[in-house]
Amino acid sequence: MKLQNTFDIAIVGGGIIGLSTAWRLSQRGFLVAVVDSGPMAGEASMAAAGMLAPGGEAHGDVPWARHTVEARRMYPDFVAELKGASGLEIDFRECGALDVASNDAVWADLESRRAAQEPLGIQAREIGEAEGRELAPLLRPGSFRALFYSDDAIVDPCQVNAALENVLRQAGAALVTRERVTAIAVDGDGYTLRTGGAAGDNILLRAGTVVLAAGAWSSQIALPERTASLGPAPRRALPVRGHLVECRRTPGMLRPIVRENHLYVFQRGGGETLTGSNEERVGFDRNPSPAAVEEILDRTDRLLPGLFAPREANSAWVGFRPGIEGEGPELRRLPEERIWLAYGHYRNGILLAPHTAAYLAGEIAG
Ligand SMILES: Cc1cc2nc3c(=O)[nH]c(=O)nc-3n(C[C@H](O)[C@H](O)[C@H](O)COP(=O)(O)OP(=O)(O)OC[C@H]3O[C@@H](n4cnc5c(N)ncnc54)[C@H](O)[C@@H]3O)c2cc1C
Repeated sequence: MKLQNTFDIAIVGGGIIGLSTAWRLSQRGFLVAVVDSGPMAGEASMAAAGMLAPGGEAHGDVPWARHTVEARRMYPDFVAELKGASGLEIDFRECGALDVASNDAVWADLESRRAAQEPLGIQAREIGEAEGRELAPLLRPGSFRALFYSDDAIVDPCQVNAALENVLRQAGAALVTRERVTAIAVDGDGYTLRTGGAAGDNILLRAGTVVLAAGAWSSQIALPERTASLGPAPRRALPVRGHLVECRRTPGMLRPIVRENHLYVFQRGGGETLTGSNEERVGFDRNPSPAAVEEILDRTDRLLPGLFAPREANSAWVGFRPGIEGEGPELRRLPEERIWLAYGHYRNGILLAPHTAAYLAGEIAG
């Protein structure tokens, strides 16, 4: 395909990071194109659980952890604005999260995480067993200690993505699907997006500014060679595979997110009940591992007995978190270029999207 169009801004990758950034940029009057190698938001942003949970994720006072807290604060307005502009529903629930510890070692981890979160202003309180069971009546019998994070929340990421697509179409943005970008090449005072072969033989479109937001695939796209000697090399993106398992239960059976030792279980407003998730560095293998699914279900059964029975009725899928070398996303401008890197949101891209989008739109416009 040869598109002759020229855009102010081209975004490579139509996951939640690319789409939300495109929305904020188009609101500022830019003519934006988003290009994806598949359908829009068909990868991590579709596979994700959608927990908005600085309480479960932040382990210390580092910039990206601060950004998760800011992003969580932005979410109610982000969702309200997106619902209003698109006319579409978005299941967003400020339900809190219960972190359960059934032994001293897990409790010690929770205590040290809580201490590390204090400078970030993340609120957690210890609750007794009676209150824990009131919040999550399905919890297994036996004693436990627990922390309650009242600010952790859930959103349905597929509904956010659908709403973003909708508002972008309304705004006249070009949403180009099934075009795999292989290179971003210098072209006069702007850039062309190239497709086809490693050399990028075909010109797809031209833009004055490019945002690279291709998630776990971002390092596969060639950048202009002249940038190589200027500043630090872009950090390498890498896929970190995760499994989720879903069943349908009566809505309201599970109110807060329930977590134990990296396992989480929660329910959406419509009754979809999810449990996950593991982390595997196995490349882009799309086949769910039966052993991983069984392990998640075994652990879930120990936490919330019977919730996912019978096992045959559940569905499972995998997704590729955009992992990154080092900590926190690669979110910066390449020196002396109008190319922004926006990948590596790892476990928190759904949460961070409003913050990343606002930050990039401000930087690019400014
Ligand atoms: C199992 C699982 C559970 C998760 N749970 C949560 C959660 O609870 N909360 C949370 O905040 N985050 C969660 N995440 C992480 C979250 O999904 C990601 O951080 C987020 O979706 C990243 O968005 P993205 O737009 O950067 O990447 P993606 O959604 O992967 O989007 C990248 C896009 O780039 C496209 N692309 C790739 N290569 C090219 C190319 N060459 N040319 C053009 N397009 C290309 C892809 O097709 C894709 O659509 C979870 C992830 C997984 C896998």
